[in-house]
This record gives sequence, C-alpha cells and structure tokens, in this order.
Amino acid sequence: MARKIQVINGGAVPAAMNSSQNPNPKSQAPLALILFGSPGSGKGTQSKLLAKALGIPQISTGDMLREHVRRGNAVGTKVEAKMKAGILVKDYVVNQLVEERLAQPDAANGFILDGYPRTRAQAEVLCGILSPRGVQAVVIHLVVDYNVIIARLTGRRQCPVCGTLYNVTSKPPKVPGVCDLEGAKLIVRDDDREEVIRERLDEYEKQTRPLIDFFRETGNRLYEIDASHDNPQAVFGKIEELIRKS
Ligand code: ADP
Repeated sequence: MARKIQVINGGAVPAAMNSSQNPNPKSQAPLALILFGSPGSGKGTQSKLLAKALGIPQISTGDMLREHVRRGNAVGTKVEAKMKAGILVKDYVVNQLVEERLAQPDAANGFILDGYPRTRAQAEVLCGILSPRGVQAVVIHLVVDYNVIIARLTGRRQCPVCGTLYNVTSKPPKVPGVCDLEGAKLIVRDDDREEVIRERLDEYEKQTRPLIDFFRETGNRLYEIDASHDNPQAVFGKIEELIRKS
C-alpha cells in the first residue's frame, strides 16, 4: 500500500462516531490503531475517547504495567524500578503482555494501542502479529510542542483514590490540590517528578521517535496531527475524521 503522510490542522469537529459502524469502513480487516507520540502528547486521553466511540479496546502498556506493580506480582516487581526512573522496561516483558492481550476475544474486531510499540524490537514483534492476520496498522502521531509537553507533565496531578487526572493550569480541580470527586489530596505521580520527566523524554527521543522511519519504511499508514493547542475534543474530532477517510 502506498505510503501516506498527512498533516491535519484544524477543521470542524464531526459528530461522535456510532460504535455500531465499522470503524474501518474501507476495509474488512480489523482496525489496528496506534496512538504515537511523546509522553504528555495526549495518547491516553485520545485512546479512551476513541475506544468509546469505536467500540474497540484501548490497550495501554503503561496502564497494564502499573496494574502489575499495584498487584505486586512477578512482572510488577521486575518493572517497578524502571518505571519509577522513567526508563523503558525490557522489550520481552512488554511484548509478552501485548501478545497475550491481543489474543483475547475483545481485540478480534480491532484495538487501539497506547504507548506501544516504543522500540524497534517492539514494532517488529507487532508487525509479526499483525501481518499474518492481514492487518495493517494506522498510526496517529500526536505532535505537540516541547514547551507544552513540559507544562502538561509538570502540572499533572492525580487523585490517589479514584485516579482522576488534573492539571494545575489546563484542568485544575475546584479546590486547589483536592480531588473534586473524592476530596482526597492530589499527588504527583512518581514518574511526573522533574528529573524523571527528563528521562522519559530522553527515552522517547532515543528509542521511540525513530520508529516514525520504521512506520514509513514498512508502508504503514502514518498521519501526523498537530495536537499542541486544541482541546481534547477537537483533537479527537481530527482523528475521527481521518479514520473515516483512511
Ligand atoms: P508516558 O507515555 O506518559 O510516559 P505511560 O503510562 O505510557 O506514560 O508509560 C509509563 C512507563 O511505563 C514508561 O516510562 C515505561 O517505563 C513503561 N512503559 C510503558 N509502555 C512501555 C513500552 N511499550 N515499552 C517499554 N516500557 C514501557
């Protein structure tokens, strides 16, 4: 298939997609959507919106790994220190989690990958899973200015009880430092501390950003979306529009 790179800037926000529609109307194959971008680019937020609209699961390796850490099991013990330090965990650990997750029945009609692949080795494993199924990925690269990324990550606060995310500037709670829903004191996620943010962005530049070339070389559909300044709903509108057209 011909390589496709497109930069989407602005545009009207279309009505939400009906989940009973085929999310990949021009193809019989399930939709494998890869949300790609730096930490803080909004992959998690967009994946959740898309999962709801398209009726396919969001598969977030960060969430999966955090759940293992929370449970304190063998995987969790193996990855905890790396995650706290903002370093990527070993490929074989993440690849196995993803392979198992993609084998579950709810992923048969398509899925959204959030935070995977993040290295060339991961991308190769993913290709090995998708190719035999005749599935070609659609990669959505959320492009965000460096300064906006820093502001988002350093301003992020989370409720330790319900997990709701806030941002001191863009999405503040009603009472500073306190969760609107639980009344609990908001915390800074371990890996949102400044020195760890630097490490995460470094890992992205060295290991993950080069995958853009890999996606191009392997002929995947790759779209770039300017996601620096629009609100999440407007970014979602752009993604939805291009999925419909692709
Ligand atoms: P962010 O994209 O904001 O860094 P994530 O929740 O996606 O947040 O990831 C948190 C951490 O989990 C990463 O810093 C890394 O340690 C680990 N992680 C998540 N996904 C992967 C992956 N695909 N490969 C290696 N490590 C990962």
